[in-house]
Amino acid sequence: MSLLSVIVPCYNEEESVALFYEELVKNDAFFQGKGVELELLYINDGSRDGTSAEVKKLREKDERVHLISFSRNFGKEAAMYAGLERSRGDYVVMMDVDLQDPPSLLPEMYAALEEGYDSVATRRVTRKGEPPIRSFFARRFYHLMKKISQTEMMDGARDYRLMTRQMVDAILSMKEYNRFTKGIFGWVGFQTKWLEYENVERARGETKWNFWKLLMYSFEGIVAFSTAPLMIASFMGVLFCIVAFLMILFIVVRKLAFGDPVSGWPSLVCIILMTSGVQFFCTGILGQYLAKTYMEVKRRPIYLVKEEL
Ligand code: UDP
Ligand code: MG
Repeated sequence: MSLLSVIVPCYNEEESVALFYEELVKNDAFFQGKGVELELLYINDGSRDGTSAEVKKLREKDERVHLISFSRNFGKEAAMYAGLERSRGDYVVMMDVDLQDPPSLLPEMYAALEEGYDSVATRRVTRKGEPPIRSFFARRFYHLMKKISQTEMMDGARDYRLMTRQMVDAILSMKEYNRFTKGIFGWVGFQTKWLEYENVERARGETKWNFWKLLMYSFEGIVAFSTAPLMIASFMGVLFCIVAFLMILFIVVRKLAFGDPVSGWPSLVCIILMTSGVQFFCTGILGQYLAKTYMEVKRRPIYLVKEEL
């Protein structure tokens, strides 16, 4: 028998916990046929509703259900990491509890592992039901990342992914505090098969991400997987030096030809404003990297567990 660990991060999801379980166990017959046992790890990411009580109810019925509760909300990234650390399976899959990662895809995903792939990833080819502005910025983000990062990141990729133990151990060896899993998957490599599906809307409850949180998360991704923004300051510096040199030439020539050294105060003010703006911008970018480095250096734990069943 081999073991499949299912990791499910939950934050205020009392309505979805049981619903997800019902959908997942529909695959039981398939996995029994393959000689695969299941363990189901609900990671309660500091929920303030009845999420943990719901999981405990399931646990009374089915001993394959496990619960790990955090001491507060640490974010989905921390929850996924905790799940990977606690998982014992030969295969591990990460899924959202809101059924946006359809459990009915699991047999197809498992079949791909049998073909010899190390991991099977999923991506949505549509973004139906999502606010258009969110889709627009998400597309821009992936477009930008393709240009500025060597790590492969697929547009529309979900965190829904089935992996072998070898790949899980590779991910666990990346102990960074600022985690951006979509990048980490790409960074570790391995043979990945992509499955595509149409976007599914959330079954119950509501999304935990607003536009601002997503924007901040995308900055996290950029800083974590690209150092290209740090080059901006150098490019700007060179560009401004060239412009300044041309201007000096212009002024010297004009003085020699027409003898008028004092005019041009408004242009001077504009130049000062613009250069100082660019300087603040570049200092800000430096600050971003410094702040992330600061948090890494502190070596704080990625999550804290309050209860584990
Ligand atoms: N989630 C979490 N911690 C958080 C936010 C979200 O564990 O701080 C979980 C959430 O319960 C869900 C998954 O991450 O299972 C995806 O969240 P959500 O559906 O809100 O994101 P969306 O699908 O809208 O991108
Ligand atoms: Mg969702």
